[in-house]
Amino acid sequence: MEYSKFNDIIKSSKNILILSHVNPDGDTLGSMCGLYCAILENFKKKCDMAAMSKIPDIYMHMPNIDKVKHIDEIDKSREYDLVINVDIAAIDRACDGKILFDKAKSTINIDHHKTNNAYGNLNFINPDASSTGEVLFGIFNELNWKVNLDCANCLYIAILTDTGSFRFDNTKPKTFESAAKLVEIGVNPSDIYKKVYESDSKTLVMFQAYCISKAKFLNNDKIAYTVVYKKDMEKFSAGDECMEGLTEKLRAIVSTRIAFVAKEMKSGGTKFSMRSKFTDVAQICELFGGGGHKFAAGCTIKAPVEDAVKMVLKEIESREI
Ligand code: 5GP
Ligand code: MN
Repeated sequence: MEYSKFNDIIKSSKNILILSHVNPDGDTLGSMCGLYCAILENFKKKCDMAAMSKIPDIYMHMPNIDKVKHIDEIDKSREYDLVINVDIAAIDRACDGKILFDKAKSTINIDHHKTNNAYGNLNFINPDASSTGEVLFGIFNELNWKVNLDCANCLYIAILTDTGSFRFDNTKPKTFESAAKLVEIGVNPSDIYKKVYESDSKTLVMFQAYCISKAKFLNNDKIAYTVVYKKDMEKFSAGDECMEGLTEKLRAIVSTRIAFVAKEMKSGGTKFSMRSKFTDVAQICELFGGGGHKFAAGCTIKAPVEDAVKMVLKEIESREI
């Protein structure tokens, strides 16, 4: 029954804004552009789309990505009929998008993070889904909306990237069923693979090699982490998109059980990106005001890197990992 409400709100809303989360990944961008394509195809309506920070180059081939505006380009006094958040676990991950979200006549929150507290008027949160892209595809199928090739490509990128190419434990039969249907629509998996995974910049590879080379290992190598300072980013002219996949590389080491990257932020705080093989790291990150998934989570601590790392290590080391 919530599905028909989703359909009705979109039908009755004249101006719609779709928001993605800060440091956008393939899931939030694929879901945003996929939803844009679906609303355009099924209702002949053009939504506004907003990104909170730079879109990584590897996603610049996504259909309709050129229509995405930076949040600073959108008038904050605007009152949208409807604001839809995709893959935004907590509203503060929408940065200044929150101003528009709070003012909107209606809000919809579509996500798959178990820490999402259903902050929208209408909420579609399925923690069993691999990705927000998979949640959206389920909604479109339920409503018998037409999914064209542009939309299918966006949703496929969302599912592909959030499952680490169908490798992570969020990959379920439903994930393959969704991917199979998208391929039937016309998605070319090898073409998308090349665009997403074989398009890293030289800067990203060299920067990550440096970050890995100074990694630290604790607890019989069960804990692996690296600290990224502002000066490191400057030395390599690396942007935030150069962090993508770095924590996974530390987790890929056979002995690693928990891996994290602590990044010194411009504001002085420290951003953590955490991954694990067995431990619930969302629970650890929640202690510091963050969240995410069981094996992939993050948080930001308002403390200098050295202090913040000590706080996080204390929590990790107090657990059986
Ligand atoms: P990443 O390490 O790739 O930035 O984030 C991993 C996962 O944790 C993502 O699913 C992301 O949504 C979540 N996450 C990262 N940082 C935060 C944060 O500060 N707050 C919350 N609630 N989730 C976060
Ligand atoms: Mn996601």
